[in-house]
Amino acid sequence: MKQRTSENTQNIIRKNIADIRLRIKNACNQNGRNPEEVRLMLVTKTVPTEKIVVAMEDGEHLLGVNTIDGLIQVKEEIKAHHPEIHFIGNLRESDLDTVLAYADCIQSVDNMESAREINRRLEKLDKKIDVLIQVNTSRRDSPYGIIPAHVIGLVLQVSKLEHLCIRGLMTLGVFGASQEKAQSCFRLLKNLYEEIVFLDIPGIHVNTLSMGMSSHLETAIAEGATMVRVGTAIFGDRDTPDSYYWKE
Ligand SMILES: *Cc1c(COP(=O)(O)O)cnc(C)c1O
Repeated sequence: MKQRTSENTQNIIRKNIADIRLRIKNACNQNGRNPEEVRLMLVTKTVPTEKIVVAMEDGEHLLGVNTIDGLIQVKEEIKAHHPEIHFIGNLRESDLDTVLAYADCIQSVDNMESAREINRRLEKLDKKIDVLIQVNTSRRDSPYGIIPAHVIGLVLQVSKLEHLCIRGLMTLGVFGASQEKAQSCFRLLKNLYEEIVFLDIPGIHVNTLSMGMSSHLETAIAEGATMVRVGTAIFGDRDTPDSYYWKE
């Protein structure tokens, strides 16, 4: 028998998911949005498989994975629940084959070199993949995400790569930021998104604005998020801080 999480832990996860769904619904209502426009992503970083399965049995299928270990973790038990897997981690060239083998979407494309490399490998596999462009909206000196001024240029270039389908934009915002700071990051991302829609670039059909984590979910929805990425508020606190993955 596989190890199961305790009844108590299962109940906590189900309660947390119900709470998050309610937060999404309330935020949508307050902003005149349809809750069906906002998808919930379960961020699985460091979360054991049994807990992920509890959440999936509760009806959630969209998983955000940020490490190679997290991708390899996706075996039968998780696959049985038909996950849609998005890679949301720092994209290293040495990890690309694994990412392409598991992910349905890569949310962290932020430069032309890796976009070209992804395209080259997908050409060999005769496959296409959905991607989001990751934007550094924090105006901090961070190695993750392209700076806002270069987003449209990158989108235009990536749009010419046959095996990558741009579906929208993603941002981290600022960890531990005030709602005002988070709002300004999300608004910037939304404006860039609207510009992409306005430009009506051939071959691009955007529908995803991936922004907002556990602590800024309502703010992100108010600013137009179509996907919120939630880890802590569902699975509890993690031992490793976010700065471990996204070095500041
Ligand atoms: C960790 C992480 C999240 C989830 O953050 P929580 O605060 O745990 O909800 C979302 N997106 C990315 C890219 C992350 O690394």
